[in-house]
Amino acid sequence: MDQLVKFEKNLEKQFRKIDEIALFNQKKVLDSFAECKITTQCFAGTTGYGYDDQGRDKLASVFAKVFKTEKAIVSPLITCGSHAISTVLYGLLRPGDTLLSISGQLYDTLYDTLFGKENGSLESFNIKFKQVELAQNDFDKNAVLKAIKKYKPKVVFVQRSRGYTNRKALSIKQMEEIFEVIKQAKNPPFIVVDNCYGEFVEEKEPTEVGADVVVGSLIKNPGGGLAPTGGYICGKTKAIDMISTRFTSPSLMLEVGSFEMGYRLFYQGLFMAPHTVAQALKGAMLVGEVMKSKGFKIIPSNDEQPDDIIKSVVFDSEEQLVKFVQLVQKISPIDSFIVPLPWDMPGYQDQVIMAAGTFVSGSSIELSCDSPIKKPYIAYFQGGLTYEHIKIFAQELDKLY
Ligand SMILES: *Cc1c(COP(=O)(O)O)cnc(C)c1O
Repeated sequence: MDQLVKFEKNLEKQFRKIDEIALFNQKKVLDSFAECKITTQCFAGTTGYGYDDQGRDKLASVFAKVFKTEKAIVSPLITCGSHAISTVLYGLLRPGDTLLSISGQLYDTLYDTLFGKENGSLESFNIKFKQVELAQNDFDKNAVLKAIKKYKPKVVFVQRSRGYTNRKALSIKQMEEIFEVIKQAKNPPFIVVDNCYGEFVEEKEPTEVGADVVVGSLIKNPGGGLAPTGGYICGKTKAIDMISTRFTSPSLMLEVGSFEMGYRLFYQGLFMAPHTVAQALKGAMLVGEVMKSKGFKIIPSNDEQPDDIIKSVVFDSEEQLVKFVQLVQKISPIDSFIVPLPWDMPGYQDQVIMAAGTFVSGSSIELSCDSPIKKPYIAYFQGGLTYEHIKIFAQELDKLY
């Protein structure tokens, strides 16, 4: 117990910085609500086609304001982050086009979208995929420029968060520097950022520093732990219109889409999100501090400014890793009696172990942890709706190792 108080003291400066960012982002969200004149009528559900669904349209307007873009698609009909990203790619790319990732390999669940055989993947539509590796956790500027010249990509893709890789997330500043350069290309590509886990971690979002599209999941940061499902896509009108044709159909675009349950939780979740993200960030640092004291490596270190809500903990063995993930489940409000084990999850290359004793199924803005079973054994820990919850986990963790 005393130990944790000491850790919190060590983290005072970092916590103050997190609070400042949360305050800034709370104001940004609050102002967006006011500018869009949100009323309780916006919460009402609709059925069937959902023509003139004001709640849906206004929700998209608030997201567009928050992410400083011209337009947005925000919908409970987007089933998850991978679906949202797939929709963006199918919307923007045409046969013969090239998709260029400048942050190395894409998230595991996008593998079938890119390369699947006879499953309608981008490859089966003759859309090519190229990737440039990161160099020392930053964009490889020369290699990116060379690749753009050589492949003339239609879309340049950045994954802000780390996925299941052994790196930290990319910062807004890093993105700003590389986007500036990309924009100078003769026919500048669409810049798309997979923003999962990055929302509200910094004061700016990728679309404020040159990205044309940001995309993410509502059961992560921007849903504030309240959104029951869904995804968002915000960006330039030209891009969002192309994506809309794929999201619904070319004749319907954003005119349709209903949700009988109503939209209050999406609005309220967005309103809560800056605070919730701050809770998660502080909790991740505390957990990091505990694990560091036990001799484990954490990524990023607690001296670095976080760029996503994840704290990676590197273990020496599968056993140590599994023990950590199982404790996350045990200290959860839901399904605390269940003991998670590694399993073959759809869309993932390796066996995965996941703890998500969450109110919203699989929500990873809630206290959760996931990890592929492969060397090096890394647990990707994130979320927690309240700092207190994460602190209770940290206390138990302190006793476990
Ligand atoms: C979570 C995540 C996704 C999307 O995953 P879903 O489980 O489909 O919501 C995509 N990219 C990154 C980096 C992620 O963290």
